[in-house]
Amino acid sequence: MRPRRCIQCRSETEITAVDAAAGEAKTLTIAVKEMPVAACARGHRQFVHPEFPLRLVEHLIDEDEARLPAGEEKGLLVKHYHCAGCGAELAPQPDHRHTFTVDVALADLSPFRVELTMPVYRCPSCDKEQLHSLKEIRKYTPEALAQAFKAAGIPAA
Ligand SMILES: [Zn+2]
Ligand SMILES: [Zn+2]
Repeated sequence: MRPRRCIQCRSETEITAVDAAAGEAKTLTIAVKEMPVAACARGHRQFVHPEFPLRLVEHLIDEDEARLPAGEEKGLLVKHYHCAGCGAELAPQPDHRHTFTVDVALADLSPFRVELTMPVYRCPSCDKEQLHSLKEIRKYTPEALAQAFKAAGIPAA
């Protein structure tokens, strides 16, 4: 992939990696590790491709988060959550925060690590630990990721 010119100073950029940057939205913390960015000699950072943030959000929501253990949300006014394994109602209070690590490979970029940290709830019946629901983590993902990009010093696209 041919790096773009710097959007701030128009000089040439090279693909490099952000060591680590994290962002939060409500109960979700997202940390990116070794995420590729384009950087110029003056240290300005930008996405390697204008569509990178959208592709990453889509990848996380559609593929990575879809594989996480998660309960099912029920109830219209008062929400309650049921175990994906046995259907029992999950404990109302989270057990602890758990970090799920995924390796993301987008198009022709080298893979990098994304850590998703959220409270997990224990099923009182079968003991399985899980998120309240996928809906919840998916809802917070775009905002937490935007905060992580901001922490990495990448201006919004
Ligand atoms: Zn620059
Ligand atoms: Zn269960």
